[in-house]
Amino acid sequence: MRLQKYLAGCGVGSRRKCEAYIEEGRVKVNGMVVTEQGIQVAEGDQVEFDDKPVTMEEKLVYYILNKPVGYITSVSDEKDRATVLDLLKDVPYRVFPVGRLDYNTTGLLLLTNDGELTYSLTHPKHHVDKTYVVKVKGVVRPAAIQKLQQGVVIDGYLTAPAKAKIIRQTGATTTISLTIHEGRNRQVRKMCSAIGYEVLRLNRESIGKLTLGNLEVGAYRALTKQEIEYLK
Ligand code: URA
Repeated sequence: MRLQKYLAGCGVGSRRKCEAYIEEGRVKVNGMVVTEQGIQVAEGDQVEFDDKPVTMEEKLVYYILNKPVGYITSVSDEKDRATVLDLLKDVPYRVFPVGRLDYNTTGLLLLTNDGELTYSLTHPKHHVDKTYVVKVKGVVRPAAIQKLQQGVVIDGYLTAPAKAKIIRQTGATTTISLTIHEGRNRQVRKMCSAIGYEVLRLNRESIGKLTLGNLEVGAYRALTKQEIEYLK
C-alpha cells in the first residue's frame, strides 16, 4: 500500500495532508525519514509520524458494493483475476468481503474489517436472509418452486426451507426470487440445478433488510450508522 494511503487509513489525516506530512519530513519508515511520495509499505514495516508509531487503527469500517460480473470475491487470486477490492479505489482500510459471490454473480456484497460482524452474518446459525433474483433457462413449473421451498438435496445435504416465487416468465426463461439463510458454496446455482434448471443470471438483491437501492453496478458506498446498527 502507498505510504500516504496507509497514513490516511491509520487516521493521521486526509491523503493530501499525509502527502504534506511526508514532504515536511515528519514521516519515518523503518527508522528512516521518507520524503518521497508514493513509496510502498507492507505488513511488518514500522511507520512513524512525528516520531510516534502509526498502526492501522482499529477503526471499523463497512461498505456496500454492487458487484459486477467478472470479479472474484477474495482479497487475492492466484490466477491474477480482478478482485472486488480492485473496485474499492478510495478505501484506505484493509477490508475483506463478507461471504462470497461467484465470479459470475452480481449484486449486494458487504466489505468490512469487522471480523465479528462477518462471523455473525455468515455463520448459518444466525439465519440472516439473503434474497437472490435468479434467471434460469426454461419454464419453471410451480411444483419445482415448491421443491425449492421445501428443500432440495445438494452435495448430499437437504437445504433448509426457503422462500421462492416466480417473478417473471417468458417462453424461454423464468426469473425467480429465492430467499435463503444458509450460505453454502454456490448454493443457489446448485439448488436450481437440483430441480433441473440452468442459471443464466444471478443477482443478490438483499441481505436482511439491506438493499442496494440505486447503487450502480460497480459502485460502492459506506454504510450509514443506521445500517451498521441494523446489521449488528
Ligand atoms: N449462490 C450461488 O450459487 N452463487 C452465489 O454467488 C451466491 C449464492
